[in-house]
Amino acid sequence: MLIIGGGIVGSGVARDAAMRGLRTGLVEQHDFASGTSSRSSRLLHGGIRYLAQGRVSLVWEASKEKSLLREIAPHLADPLEFVFPTRKANGWPRWKLGVGVKLYDLLCGVGKGGGSGSMGVAETLRRVPGLNQTELTGAVRYHDALTNDSRLVLDTLNSAVRHGAIACNYVKLLDATAEGDLWRCELEDLRTATLHVVKARSVVNATGPWSDRMPNSETSLRLTKGVHLVIDRSRLPVDDAVVLAEGSRILFVIPWGERVILGTTDTDYHGPLDNPPCDDADIAYILQVVNDGFPAAKLTPKDLVSTWSGLRPLVADKNGNPSDISRRHKIAMSHAGWWDVTGGKLTTYRLMGEETVDAIVKFLGMKAGPCRTASTPIVESGHAEAFSGILPPPVSAAAVAHYCRVESARHLDDVMIRRSSWRHYHHNQMELAANVARWMAAELKWTDAETETELQRYRRLIGGVEGAAPRIGVAPVNGNGHAAAGAVRSGAI
Ligand SMILES: Cc1cc2nc3c(=O)[nH]c(=O)nc-3n(C[C@H](O)[C@H](O)[C@H](O)COP(=O)(O)OP(=O)(O)OC[C@H]3O[C@@H](n4cnc5c(N)ncnc54)[C@H](O)[C@@H]3O)c2cc1C
Repeated sequence: MLIIGGGIVGSGVARDAAMRGLRTGLVEQHDFASGTSSRSSRLLHGGIRYLAQGRVSLVWEASKEKSLLREIAPHLADPLEFVFPTRKANGWPRWKLGVGVKLYDLLCGVGKGGGSGSMGVAETLRRVPGLNQTELTGAVRYHDALTNDSRLVLDTLNSAVRHGAIACNYVKLLDATAEGDLWRCELEDLRTATLHVVKARSVVNATGPWSDRMPNSETSLRLTKGVHLVIDRSRLPVDDAVVLAEGSRILFVIPWGERVILGTTDTDYHGPLDNPPCDDADIAYILQVVNDGFPAAKLTPKDLVSTWSGLRPLVADKNGNPSDISRRHKIAMSHAGWWDVTGGKLTTYRLMGEETVDAIVKFLGMKAGPCRTASTPIVESGHAEAFSGILPPPVSAAAVAHYCRVESARHLDDVMIRRSSWRHYHHNQMELAANVARWMAAELKWTDAETETELQRYRRLIGGVEGAAPRIGVAPVNGNGHAAAGAVRSGAI
């Protein structure tokens, strides 16, 4: 089986297939997790919003997966308490949310953090100091979990490889044609500019936002963009995650070690797919919602440590509108042996892998073992947890060596962004990048010129005039990015 796309969906399919004994290959055109799967809100969640829409089965499914991930990847699933302040006449009455979170408990189970509940105004202000008191009626609290999206991809892929899969980054599918009962896939190794042909009985199109552009794909997508900002926690000292309601939409304030993640937005997007830009309007919008929620914070763009921007690949109906199943996933065999797998979310990726491999095994009429991904830890004991977690590991030559030797890091941003998250966590980016580049050069035998090229590429990527707030996606590497017009709104995940 050949899987196209090294995001969370492709990784989940690869792990499941390899564990059942299928000969499995995966190719990723850029770095693993460089698409949407390193640009999310980093939550494992049942989707409390969907309860308001009466989509109980969707919440039930995601909640089960959330609990399973706590078992198989505890280093990437930290329970997190959310406080959702309620206000007079803002469409989110406390009694209604109170019923919702109790139902959420029933579906998700009451985890380590205890059950959900409601609070009065005094308790809310004690829990969330600095909160805007205008028309405040109290709050509800509930539990989800924090993860690290790109680490979840990488650890899942590492597991797939330990079970026999082959995974290559910087290899792009150019074309695929049916030849009898095989698919002839033309691949380009982008680092060596060489062409290769691979034949597979099944091809899985797991290319997320790119999936309607793949040859043979019958997927129809509507893309929306979601932006996140990172600030110092000293600027907004929250102990719990806070949900800020803005009309019918919500925005999260998520504590992340010494930083806080703010997001997200939700705007239709028609621009280039690589590195979608994070515009001034996106930043202004998020800061405005957070400053409304915490008036004393007075956050400005100068407070930004980092930003990222990602695309939601929502499954669309024939008219281009997000379909009813847009928040679930879709697994379809569009041609014999060609599978389009789209939609879903990080939280449900394991289930998507299981359902995809079940369908393929059935189609191939193979005898394969049962799915074991729900009960087998992603990281075997003794393997590399030191360099994987929700918070970035300490900056060290040992971590860089591990990422280069074991996790196929090839460019500076592979280490800085997706393997370590150092780019989103630390100030003094170019100084840090210079050290990391030196350590990578020793590992990958870069010349001085190559090291300098990597530093320039990284500086461009982070939009990096030092001293300005650097942003992922402001200066797309290919230089042709532009944002779709439209009002910014806060977002769904
Ligand atoms: C703003 C935002 C916040 C979110 N927050 C959450 C959250 O908190 N919790 C949650 O559960 N979910 C969340 N999601 C949803 C989740 O992030 C996505 O559903 C998921 O990451 C999609 O993964 P994917 O593998 O389908 O796509 P991607 O991660 O985009 O992977 C597709 C890959 O295919 C590669 N590719 C494309 N073309 C080719 C080719 N020709 N050859 C080889 N490779 C190719 C791309 O380079 C890319 O890496 C969020 C999404 C967004 C946008």
